[in-house]
Amino acid sequence: MNANQRPKARRLLLETLILTVLYAALGKVCTMLAHSVLSGNLILFWPPAGLALAAFNADGLLPAVIQQWDTGEVLMLGWMNEEALRRTFTEGRVTFWSRSRQEYWRKGDTSGHAQYVHGAAFDCDADTLLVQVDQVGGACHTGTRTCFDGRDVDVAPGARPDATDGVHP
Ligand SMILES: [Zn+2]
Repeated sequence: MNANQRPKARRLLLETLILTVLYAALGKVCTMLAHSVLSGNLILFWPPAGLALAAFNADGLLPAVIQQWDTGEVLMLGWMNEEALRRTFTEGRVTFWSRSRQEYWRKGDTSGHAQYVHGAAFDCDADTLLVQVDQVGGACHTGTRTCFDGRDVDVAPGARPDATDGVHP
């Protein structure tokens, strides 16, 4: 190799290196994209942004309030860990973490009373999730539409001192 060929060889090596890295990156992207398309859910391509916001308790769980999206009915409350949250955000169906059975529980798989996700929002501290759903049948395992139907307790009702006050403490 003479003095003229040396810079050429160096450039060739550099180009080969750059192309190798580019092809490797492209291959990785293609594999991930193919996986996402095959799984029928493009959102799996990256973690849903909401996951990063979630503030779990010491047990790695957060409570999820489930509400019928159009009527506003409060249907039930369940617990989710990070994976249950990810599934709920990406699969269109509500998945809980069952604390008693220590397993994932996709609502409706055994009862047929599925919850189809319509939207979701964290509360101000991101330690509680509200999931608005389309509920098939009854949300409660006892057969009632919501977990709160027919379970009223006696309370001493309060009333604001001045109804025209309008200030809520
Ligand atoms: Zn219930």
